[in-house]
This record gives sequence, structure tokens and C-alpha cells, in this order.
Amino acid sequence: MKVRAAVLREMGLPAPYAGSRPLGIETLDLSGPGEGELLVRVLATGLCHSDLSVIDGSRPRPVPMVLGHEAVGEVLDVGRGTPGFQQGDRVVFSFVPMCGHCGPCASGRPVLCEPGALANAEGRLLGGARHWRDADGTPLQHHLGVSCFSECTVVSARSAVRIDQDLAPTTAALFGCAVMTGVGAVVNTARVRPGEGVAVFGLGGVGLAAVLGAVASGAHPLVAVDVVPEKLALARSLGATHCIDASIADPVEAIREITRGGVEHAIESVGNERVLVQAYAATRRGGATITVGLPAPDRMFSVPAVSLVAEERCVRGSYMGSAVPSRDIPRYIALHRSGRLPVERLLTHTLSLEDVNEGFDRLAAGTAIRQVVAFDT
Ligand SMILES: [Zn+2]
Ligand SMILES: [Zn+2]
Repeated sequence: MKVRAAVLREMGLPAPYAGSRPLGIETLDLSGPGEGELLVRVLATGLCHSDLSVIDGSRPRPVPMVLGHEAVGEVLDVGRGTPGFQQGDRVVFSFVPMCGHCGPCASGRPVLCEPGALANAEGRLLGGARHWRDADGTPLQHHLGVSCFSECTVVSARSAVRIDQDLAPTTAALFGCAVMTGVGAVVNTARVRPGEGVAVFGLGGVGLAAVLGAVASGAHPLVAVDVVPEKLALARSLGATHCIDASIADPVEAIREITRGGVEHAIESVGNERVLVQAYAATRRGGATITVGLPAPDRMFSVPAVSLVAEERCVRGSYMGSAVPSRDIPRYIALHRSGRLPVERLLTHTLSLEDVNEGFDRLAAGTAIRQVVAFDT
């Protein structure tokens, strides 16, 4: 079938993207679904910093690629040998497909799925297929098994989680990355308990979702750190007890003072090694630093080695919120329904596919939180 999609052909084009237009809207051929795969009509898809990291080249991926990894859609067709799905199902995508059989999958950590990571690195689906062809017949890469900056996409069924039909698509899309990653960092990776102090560094979609997760978990105090006053104001309205503008005040000093020695959990969602060092310094003895952001591959960070032992500090990475997507997405949606996870507050813009480049300018400039492309339904 013919499908309009946003294609990245060259990484590292200069900003502003409204001028350089790294994402071109092309009409592509989409084949499939094959065995174990689903053809999905995309209803709404979010613009995430991880897409931007591919566009600017800080997280290199094979190109040309159909970008996008956070979305909700409706199943149009089910490949043979694909139990558990039927036409008309509403699905949210998981940007790590999980094979269900490898060591990490078997030990309950599907975000570390080894065949899934390999498929994502190679720009293909879990089963090996590539289903995109451009007008010249050249194959294109899949982005994280999802490639949802497109009217329709084909995914492995192991990249999809069924959800109820009634959630607004512009809200439902956010559960695929921002919410799964940010809330998961708090509840799965950090395992925050009521009354524990949490600091969140970086208030993009993932960081603000972490704020929501910390509120739902009963964190106190809950300190939000950023350099954009509007983001700090939003964090406060979502339940942060203290907000620190890191362009004005030293966040480490401020957090240590507010909490008399540091927080139990510092969550770093900037993807910057200097901020990671700050987050570590803002934890108290015995504290945990959870990092969610994605620094460029050549970046290193250092902390006093002895403090890991003598102060029982730790640093933990959290990929996709250490999620089990089929367990967590329905749970987070249930919390949302009950009013305890108002994720729709993260949505600042809805736009059309043609305007994604302008959207990434806003994301890079920090003037948007979550922007969602809403397709005609
Ligand atoms: Zn993302
Ligand atoms: Zn696996």
C-alpha cells in the first residue's frame, strides 16, 4: 500500500529544521504484514527527544529511516501466526520489541531483549523484515521497530500492547514513550516509596512524566530542576514541591539544603554527563541516581569512586522505564483514568505530519513539552 511518511535521509543537518528540513514527507510503499506482524493505522504519534537525537546525529542510526517511536494506532490487518490480536484492536507501541525467549526476557527484563536490541540497531523488525520502499524501490530502515511518523506502519506483534478503545489518541500516544519511560524510572527502577525525597533533573516529556510518577508514588519533597521557567511552573502545578532554575541557582546546593543532606532518588533525564554528576551530588548517603537521558556515545562521567562504597550510593540506568510494557501500559492508563496520572497535561501542541520539522525546532528550543501529530481519523 501507499503511505505518507516522514523520512530521515541525512543526520546532522543544521538547525533550524524549518529551513534544513531533515524530515521529508514522502509517499512510500509499505508491504506486509508478514508472520507475527501487524499492519497498524497510526492515529497519533508524539515527537520525542530520542527522535531529535537521531536527526542531529548524537544517536546515530542507519538511514534512510522512517522516524518515530511513540504512538497509538488501530490494527488494520493481522499477519498469519499472530495470536492475541485482531482487526480493530487499539495498540500502543513499545519501542523495544521483546522476543520473550532470550535471557533478559526470561528474567523479566524485556527492555533488554537481545534480539530486540539487535533488530533496533539494524533498523529492521524483530522477525528480520524491512517493509518500506521509496519511489525508487530502495528499502528504508525501521526506527526502533515502530516508524510511526507515517499514516500506517507494520510492526512486530511483539512491539504492540493492546489498550482500551476509549482513550483520546493524543493522550494514548504518550504512554508509548514519555509515560512508560518517565513513570517507569520512578516506580520500576528507583522504586520510590512514600515520603522519600526525589529530584528530577530536566523537565521534558520524560522528566515531567517522572514528576507525575513521583507524585503518584507519594514522593516528598519533590524537587524539579530545569532552566526554562515555563517548565518549572508546569512541574509545580503537577505537584513538585520545590522548583529550581539551574541557570540562577546551584541545584546541588539548593537540593541539599531543602532536603538537609540530599534526596533518596535523583532522576536525570537530560542526557548530559555534567547534569548526571550534579544529580549524583544531590543524593544523600545511600541515595540512588537514576539516569534516563541519552548522552552522545562518546561522553563519560566520573564521580568519587569511594562514595559508592563508603556512602552506599548507586547509579542506575533506566531504559524505557525498566518496563514490562504489557503489564505497565495498562497500569499507567488505569492510574490516568483515576486522575492520578494526568499525562494529558504534558501535551502542548498538536500538529500535522507536514509540520514535524517545525515541531523539532520547538523541541530543541525547549518551547514545547509533548507535541503530537494527530492523523485524520
Ligand atoms: Zn521517546
Ligand atoms: Zn528477548
